[in-house]
Amino acid sequence: MIFEGLAEKLQNTLGKLKGKGKLNEKDVNDAMREVKLALLEADVNFKVVKQFVEKVKERAIGQEVMESLTPGQHVIKIVNEELTNLMGNVQSKINFSSRPPTVIMLVGLQGAGKTTTAGKLGGYLKKQGKKPLLVACDIYRPAAIKQLKVVGEQLGIPVFELGDQKSPVDIAREGLEKSKIDGNDVLIIDTAGRLHIDTELMDELVNIKQSIRPHEILLVIDSMTGQDAVNVAESFNSALGIDGVILTKLDGDTRGGAALSVKAVTQKPIKFAGIGEKLDELEPFYPDRIASRILG
Ligand code: GDP
Repeated sequence: MIFEGLAEKLQNTLGKLKGKGKLNEKDVNDAMREVKLALLEADVNFKVVKQFVEKVKERAIGQEVMESLTPGQHVIKIVNEELTNLMGNVQSKINFSSRPPTVIMLVGLQGAGKTTTAGKLGGYLKKQGKKPLLVACDIYRPAAIKQLKVVGEQLGIPVFELGDQKSPVDIAREGLEKSKIDGNDVLIIDTAGRLHIDTELMDELVNIKQSIRPHEILLVIDSMTGQDAVNVAESFNSALGIDGVILTKLDGDTRGGAALSVKAVTQKPIKFAGIGEKLDELEPFYPDRIASRILG
C-alpha cells in the first residue's frame, strides 16, 4: 500500500463518516481534525495541511453535501479531489523543444537517485521513439561516470563523457555539440550532487544552465526524506529555478510528506516517480491515481 500509515488513518476516519448517514458540522470538524493529524504525522508541511483542511471543510460543510443522501461519500470525494489538487491535479509532461535536441538537466543531492533516474528517463524516452544521449557531468562522485556508462550500456543508450578532468560546463557544451552531430533528439545531463546544498554546487549548476540553456531542469528528490526533500526543492528552485520534480523511492515505506507537499510549496509539478531500483521502474506521476490509492 502506498503511504501506508497515512492511507490507513484516512481510510479509517473517512470510513466512519460513510457509516453515519446524515452528517452535521461537528462530524465533519471531528473527522478533519483526525485527517489533519494523519497528514502531519505523514510529514506533510504544516501550512499545506492547514490550507488543505480549511478547503475541505469549506466545501464539505456546504448545504449540498450535508443534505445529500450519501454525505460521507461526498466528503470522501472532496478529500480525493483536494488531495489530487495538492499534488498538481494533472499529469505534467516534459516540454519537448520544437528544435531538437531537447536538453534535460537532472539536479539534486547525492544519493537522491540522479544517475539511476538519468538512465531510467533515457529508457522511458527511448521507448517513446526518442534518441537520447546521456551526458556525464558528475565528475566529483567517484564512480558516477562509470555508473552512468553501465546504465547506458544496459539500456542501449549512448553516454557522453570526458572523464573527470574537464569542467562540467565544458562537458555539457561538448555533449550538446555531439548530440547534434549524432542526431540525438534528447540530451539528459547527469550533474553532481552534494550531501548538503552549498553555494559551490549551485554556482556550478547555474553555470551549466547559463551555458547550455536546458529546456527542462528536473530536480530529483528522495521521497523517503519527507519534508527535508521539500526544503531541498525550495533551495534549488530559488537558486536555480526548476521546471519540475522527479520523486524517487516511492516504492519504499515513505510516509507521503514529500509527495503531498512539494507541489504546494514550490508550485513546481512532480513529473515522474521512481518506483524501484530497476531501470524500467519509472512512471509518469498521476496525482489523481495516487490520491485514489491513498483513499483505497
Ligand atoms: P545519485 O547520487 O543521486 O546519482 O544517486 P544514485 O542514482 O546512485 O542512487 C542512489 C541509490 O538509490 C541507488 O542504490 C539506487 O539504486 C537507489 N534508487 C534510485 N531510485 C530509486 C527508486 O525509485 N527506488 C528505489 N528503491 N531505489 C532507488
